[in-house]
Amino acid sequence: MVITEEALRSRVAELGRAITRDYADRRPVLVGVLQGAFLFMADLIRAIPIELQTDFIALASYAGTRPSGAVRLVSDLSVPVEDRHVLVVEDIVDTGLTLAYLRRALEARRPRSLRVCCLVDKAERREVSVEIDYVGFTIGNVYVVGYGFDWQGLYRNLPYVAALE
Ligand code: 5GP
Repeated sequence: MVITEEALRSRVAELGRAITRDYADRRPVLVGVLQGAFLFMADLIRAIPIELQTDFIALASYAGTRPSGAVRLVSDLSVPVEDRHVLVVEDIVDTGLTLAYLRRALEARRPRSLRVCCLVDKAERREVSVEIDYVGFTIGNVYVVGYGFDWQGLYRNLPYVAALE
């Protein structure tokens, strides 16, 4: 399984067009989830030619062999998002536990709206149901690396997404 550079480029452009249409005149805050979403975020915002702001949040799951659902805030946003239109930019939604945590944490800050864009959705792996408003690619049960996604800290710099052999 590979998502080529060309496929990434054209899908990111499509997502950018949809977001541009939905957020014109709303001056959204795009919240990138570190580290995995940093390349996607960089490409996505250049495909959204409207006034917007960016911020980042870093989360980590308590490491273990299975997802425990325990998510920890490693680094918080630097701007308040109360009354703002917030669009979360996520790398991969797998079990959904991370996104469920993040949605709860951000909703508590009373944004005017809260939506989620993820590049890769592993829908069949879901353990908790979470709403995702913009999805780049839906893939099966494979571990992927590249385009910001790592395996033990490596491979983020691949310009495409590939299944880890
Ligand atoms: P969830 O909480 O939805 O199970 O996991 C979400 C996080 O796990 C993602 O944000 C991502 O960091 C990591 N993750 C899940 N699947 C993959 C994968 O196939 N490759 C990589 N590199 N990370 C993954």
